[in-house]
Amino acid sequence: MQKCVSVHNSAERLVSDVIKPGLCSGCGACIGYCPYIKSFGERVGVVHDCKKSEGTCYRVCPRAATSFTNLRKIPFGDVETDPVFGSFKEINYARACDEDIRSRGQYGGVVTALSIYALQTGVIDSALMTGGSFTGARPFIASSAGEILACTGSKYTAAPNLSVFQDAVKEGFNNIGVVGRPCQCTAARKMQQVAEIKGERISLIIGLFCMGSFSPEFYKFIKEKGLDEYEKMDIPGDVNFKKDNKETSLPYDEVREYIRNSCSICFDPLSELADLSVGSTEYDYGWNTLIIRSEKGSNLAKEAAANGIIEIKEYPAPRLPLLRKAVFNKKKRVLERPDATYLEISGQEREYFLANGGGA
Ligand SMILES: Cc1cc2nc3c(=O)[nH]c(=O)nc-3n(C[C@H](O)[C@H](O)[C@H](O)COP(=O)(O)OP(=O)(O)OC[C@H]3O[C@@H](n4cnc5c(N)ncnc54)[C@H](O)[C@@H]3O)c2cc1C
Repeated sequence: MQKCVSVHNSAERLVSDVIKPGLCSGCGACIGYCPYIKSFGERVGVVHDCKKSEGTCYRVCPRAATSFTNLRKIPFGDVETDPVFGSFKEINYARACDEDIRSRGQYGGVVTALSIYALQTGVIDSALMTGGSFTGARPFIASSAGEILACTGSKYTAAPNLSVFQDAVKEGFNNIGVVGRPCQCTAARKMQQVAEIKGERISLIIGLFCMGSFSPEFYKFIKEKGLDEYEKMDIPGDVNFKKDNKETSLPYDEVREYIRNSCSICFDPLSELADLSVGSTEYDYGWNTLIIRSEKGSNLAKEAAANGIIEIKEYPAPRLPLLRKAVFNKKKRVLERPDATYLEISGQEREYFLANGGGA
């Protein structure tokens, strides 16, 4: 197990435990506090050793020692957790009511609709999002409805959204929303605990489902294949590319090698530590799956539904076991890996997955 207390300093540990073994998820959480850690596109590098033993960089890294048991207590308290889905109040289908948001969104546009609503009701005053396109993702601080709308759509690479958190603090934002992949939600919960970086200013976390993101080499592959002329990419099974009425697709096996190594040790495909988690339905692509987790997330989603911002309907009961099985299998695969040493979960939880059947 990796431990937070060691004779080595933080930057050294970040390099030896995370960056060198290829386990950096590109979340961006370690960027912006000191001049010695830089992001180069979607890669992170330590350019100088700072000699600090309790540096923020290692403390907030989602691939440094991570106790889900402890982190869950921040948003959910001491409640019992579903080992597969995490803590939740409800799992539903949902979509944005606004047709324009739906047509621009990846699926039902729930992330965009809820982020705009959170901004307009003062729950957040800005959101760390991903701008650009699937051929060039960029971290972005969105502070208007138009800017949030401009960030719609999934970019399947690892945009380091959290790298601009310190910029948002410097710009004077006090209630910062985070939209991110599961690793970014884990990092954001860790950041909330660090007063020196004003982590308490993170006020809402909307997490995406994520079974993996692509390494920067994926951009080169897309270009070589001439796929950069398309506007939207999706992975409903095969990898689909669309522009207006033009469509093409590739078998997933052709892109599998570009999945970041870090994703193979990710225990959290559903962004368990978020206030709200949003994914596809893998069934009806005009809708999202919406997992309502925390009290804060619940208030926002319920209010948004009551005010005609999102539409919520019941999750089809026969489909829930399929989601449960996919997540169970992913978690089990991770626990079986000898290099998933960052993960600290209880023996009971580990046993649930590793014992035959596991009850999923
Ligand atoms: C790398 C990646 C892998 C994913 N894998 C799965 C999966 O296996 N199964 C599944 O059901 N869903 C997956 N998703 C989530 C899915 O693609 C949609 O993002 C989600 O369903 C929200 O849909 P929406 O219509 O509400 O999105 P929109 O309303 O279009 O909003 C999308 C939001 O995602 C943010 N975003 C885009 N790209 C990134 C990125 N790289 N990092 C962080 N934030 C980003 C944007 O800022 C925007 O706010 C994945 C998303 C990403 C980025």
